[in-house]
Order: sequence, then C-alpha cells, then structure tokens
Amino acid sequence: ADSQSSVMITGGAGFIGSTLVRQWLEHERERVVNFDKLTYAGLPESLEEAAEHPMYTFVHGDVAEPAAVAGTLLEHRPTTILHLAAESHVDRSISEPPLFAQTNVLGTCVLLDAATKYWHSLAGKQREAFRFVLISTDEVFGSAAPGEHFTTSSPLRPSSPYAASKAAAEHFAQSFAHTYGLPLLIVNPTNHYGPRQFPEKLIPKMILAAAAGEPLMLYGDGLHERDWLNVEDGCRGIRAVARRGIPGKRYLLGSGKCLTNREVVNAICDCLDERLGNKESTRLIAAVADRPGHDRRYAVESAAPELQWQPEVPFNEGIVQTVEWYLENTSWIDAATASLG
Ligand code: NAD
Repeated sequence: ADSQSSVMITGGAGFIGSTLVRQWLEHERERVVNFDKLTYAGLPESLEEAAEHPMYTFVHGDVAEPAAVAGTLLEHRPTTILHLAAESHVDRSISEPPLFAQTNVLGTCVLLDAATKYWHSLAGKQREAFRFVLISTDEVFGSAAPGEHFTTSSPLRPSSPYAASKAAAEHFAQSFAHTYGLPLLIVNPTNHYGPRQFPEKLIPKMILAAAAGEPLMLYGDGLHERDWLNVEDGCRGIRAVARRGIPGKRYLLGSGKCLTNREVVNAICDCLDERLGNKESTRLIAAVADRPGHDRRYAVESAAPELQWQPEVPFNEGIVQTVEWYLENTSWIDAATASLG
C-alpha cells in the first residue's frame, strides 16, 4: 500500500467500523474513506481521533443510494472496499424486518453493482489489486448443535430476519463474483465485544446495568453460547483477509472459545466487584422471556493459514479493558444514549 491508494470502509462510524478505521490509519498507510449514513448506531464521537488524521475522509451517505455510492467510488478511487454498513441488532430485526432488507440486502446489492461497474473501469495494476470484502456474520449458519463448529462449507440456514438479510447479502455478493468475476472475499466473524459497542448489545448493556445496580435482564435460561471475539482481534482479521485472503474464498473468524451469556455476565460482575469493591451487590441476574427464535449456540472453525492471523486477546483480559472503558467514557455513553432517542 502507498499513500496514494485508498480503501473505502462502509459503516465506519459503527462499533467494528470505527475500530477498523483507526487500525487502518495506524497500520496500512493508505487513505481511508468512511462512507456512513450515521443512523442511530453511527456515532461521530467514535471517530474523534480519525477525524484529525490527514489521510481520513468522511462521506455522509446511504449504501442503498446508487448515485451517492457511484460518486464516492469515482471521486476516491479505492482499491479495496470493506463493506460493514448494516442494520446489526437482532432484536430490531424482529420488530422491523423490512428495514433490514432495505439496508442489508438492497444496500449491499446497490454497492455491489456500483463496485462492479467501477472495477470494470479500472486498468492494469489497479484492476488486478481490487478487492470487495463483505463482512457477514456467523449467524448466517443458524444454530450450532452442541460440539459442532461451522466451517467454510457449512450451509446458510439463517434463523432471524437479521441473519436472513445477511445471508441474502452473501448470495447477491456470490452472484456478482460468479456472473461478473468480482474479486470477492466473505468474512464470517463471531460476536465482537470491546469499546464503542452500542449499549443495546449484550455486553455494554450488562456493564451499564450492573454498574448502576440495576437488574441484569438475561434472555431465557441464559445458557445460549457465543464465541466472543475482541474487536481489535476481529479488525486485525479483516485486515488480514483484505491483504492476504484469496478472492473467491470465505473466512471464518472466531476466538475458538464459547461462553454462555450467564458466564459473560458473571465475568462482567467480577470485574465490577474488583473495581468498585462492592462484592456481590452487582449480581441481580433476572430472567426475561426468551427472544423469539433465539439461536442456542454459535461456534466456528476459525481462519486459514494464508491469513497468518490468530486472536491475541484472551476474553478475561479483554473484558476487563472493556468494562473500564465503559466506566471511564461517560461522554461517549451520553452521546450513544441520546442517539437512541
Ligand atoms: P453497528 O450497528 O455498530 O454499525 C453499523 C454502521 O453502519 C453504523 O455506523 C451505521 O450508521 C452504518 N449504516 C447503517 N445503515 C447504513 C446505510 N444504509 N448506509 C451507510 N451506512 C449505514 O454495527 P457493527 O456491530 O459495527 O457491525 C458491523 C458489521 O459487522 C455489520 O455488517 C454486522 O452485520 C457485522 N458483524 C457484526 C458483529 C458484531 O458482533 N457486532 C459480528 C459479526 C458480524
């Protein structure tokens, strides 16, 4: 990479996107164009360091708007597109499915269409170097049986409207690779956690409730299992896929270790007890009715040797850093709460 080339990151004001923007500016020596609609989940407050960086440009736009997407591609001429923009919250997909079809399916299709036309207009080395990286999710595979790990050849069996919209996006992307030869890479990461995750998601929600001494509302029996990947590890994985992945391939990224939601909440409470010195007072775990169609378990068989990637942050370290970040960054939490309305 050199300082003349650029990457387009969609959804760069979100949780994973803002971490990826920060990492890319720090390690990849490439101009970064962040294309984001700034929905409730997109916070300029997550990008305060990047905003000062000379290699960073923000474009306020919707991936489902063909003219905005095509204009941005022609103006900034990226060699890599990292597509993260999405509606990402499963509960919202249950109450408002069409919005997920609009952004995650139509938005991805519009972006693929514009990207393919733009790619066809490139020549020589730029055309050869071009990559479209779709950030999907392990939720497209549905619920894993006890002991089962999804692999790159597992069938797509989405359960929630969110997962269905991500699977549909994958199908569109594969069809563009098949029909037009688009150099496509698909990433299926597991659940991420870390700083700047929107407080409607499990880990930040539980940290903030526990710190406030409020009940910790766990879905059902709390024994749903997830593989939690630290967001810094996940973003290093996405960078590895963009740099070293083979077009046409799918990459699963996970930490390799599953935890039940109850174990996650107990780990958060342990951190708070340690830090605030209020032993056991934070452990008001309450059961609420399970989420309809809730998948029991997600687990993946991770990565591939060509990526030279493996997760580095153990959960018990990452969760301490995450709890501390949420306790210290009250102005970010105020901005997120205001954005939720
Ligand atoms: P997020 O909800 O925190 O952020 C989404 C971002 O996309 C926001 O900045 C939002 O403004 C932007 N956006 C939404 N609609 C848009 C549109 N129409 N046009 C342009 N921008 C738009 O999401 P996240 O948790 O950072 O997830 C990022 C991606 O990674 C998503 O594609 C998600 O499906 C995938 N993923 C997330 C996780 C996870 O644990 N968070 C796990 C696996 C995969």
